[in-house]
Amino acid sequence: MSDHDHAPDPLAIRAEALEKLLTDQGLVTAEAIEGVIRHYAEDVGPMNGARVVARAWTDPAYRERLLENGREAIAELGFGGAQGERLVVVENEPQVHNVVVCTLCSCYPWPVLGLPPSWYKDPAYRSRVVREPRAVLREFGLELPDETEVRVWDSSAEIRYMVLPQRPVGTESLSEADLAPLVSRDAMIGVAQVEANRE
Ligand code: FE
Repeated sequence: MSDHDHAPDPLAIRAEALEKLLTDQGLVTAEAIEGVIRHYAEDVGPMNGARVVARAWTDPAYRERLLENGREAIAELGFGGAQGERLVVVENEPQVHNVVVCTLCSCYPWPVLGLPPSWYKDPAYRSRVVREPRAVLREFGLELPDETEVRVWDSSAEIRYMVLPQRPVGTESLSEADLAPLVSRDAMIGVAQVEANRE
């Protein structure tokens, strides 16, 4: 799988040709390829990122390590691999909201979030969130106060970003295990906030 798919059509054709060649030569099986895709679609998913966030909320030393070196800190929880070689975690603060995009294509931190949602790959999201982040966030249902600074992080093949959302008020008594299910994929991309009560 390629890091960048700026020109999806030629790359898709190449990928298909390679897949055919490898399977024809008996080097890999179609099942093995399907298995890799299924792994990232189903096993690796936002639940990994949610565990990272819940740990950071409950363990200040872990939070510091996470902001210092995202890749190493997520590896502590056993996550890593493709598309996560350089993973940078940006923290939301009372006056700062972070949102992640890949303006070129769809670079995304697979080890913590799995495969990107379709809207993340949509040219409209990719171009608009840079130009008018507040308007885009409003469409996601996230209304930010005027005084909040919005920072947009453009992912690339080299650096993938994940947002460390703010821990919601009213969750002070919750444990790490109780907090993780509150953390949504969208909150870790930065198009949502974490709510104390998640349906
Ligand atoms: Fe990309």
